[in-house]
Amino acid sequence: MGSGHARGIEGMDESMDERLDGMDKIMEKSAGETRDVLKKRAVIILSGGLDSTTCMGYAQEEQYELFPITFDYGQRHKMEIENARQVAAYYGAAARHKVISLSFLHDFGGSALTDDNIEVPVSAIPVPESDKPVSDIPVTYVPGRNLLFLSIAASYAEVIGAEAIYIGVNALDYSGYPDCRPAFIHKMEEVIATATKAGVEGRVTRIEVPLIYLSKADIIKEGIRMEVPYHLTTSCYLGDQAACGECDSCHLRLKGFAEAGVKDPIVYKT
Ligand SMILES: [Zn+2]
Repeated sequence: MGSGHARGIEGMDESMDERLDGMDKIMEKSAGETRDVLKKRAVIILSGGLDSTTCMGYAQEEQYELFPITFDYGQRHKMEIENARQVAAYYGAAARHKVISLSFLHDFGGSALTDDNIEVPVSAIPVPESDKPVSDIPVTYVPGRNLLFLSIAASYAEVIGAEAIYIGVNALDYSGYPDCRPAFIHKMEEVIATATKAGVEGRVTRIEVPLIYLSKADIIKEGIRMEVPYHLTTSCYLGDQAACGECDSCHLRLKGFAEAGVKDPIVYKT
């Protein structure tokens, strides 16, 4: 009886496996059919800042259905999360918008943006006058941030069948950040292809970095052309209602708008 019982369970397992296999096939078939009629999909890493919001514009221009993802990592500029929600809504993507808590980054600290013991520099780092790279890594660097962001975005992309992940990294203005370099992006694409079921099955997930070689002024010009809602964005590291106009990020943004010959639509204290 014991062995019969065991066989019974084995039999059940086999038939269950077969049925699950069958379901897999049906789901793949229906997913394939659905994908034929629906738009192609992209995950956009959306911080609520100027660069990531411009990425929303690029992804929309490429006719993607937009799946924004925002990370709450205890950053000082928490207002960004609310900005990201408004930007997602502007693009009709509010229902597909994921806000993911990475509160452990605040526990780790180690960055002026996440650690209460490290002050946010107010113009401590000179804004480069030319496009020459800055060699020092600023204290606003968040350890492993884009590594984490892209890993999580890749997971979301695999689930929804997205073929692209947009991230607003820039190799000119922030060349001090090692996780904004093209070498890192290329390696990460390889890692995603190796590490995911989608990748192993030959469904490539590209990492799109449309801003990587653009100056801030050129990013803004492109954004204006694509009617990107810059009035809904914030760049200030301090994260108050009105931008400080003093921190490195505010400086870069204001310099970009000035060079683009466009008035920045957000409110500044100074
Ligand atoms: Zn500021």
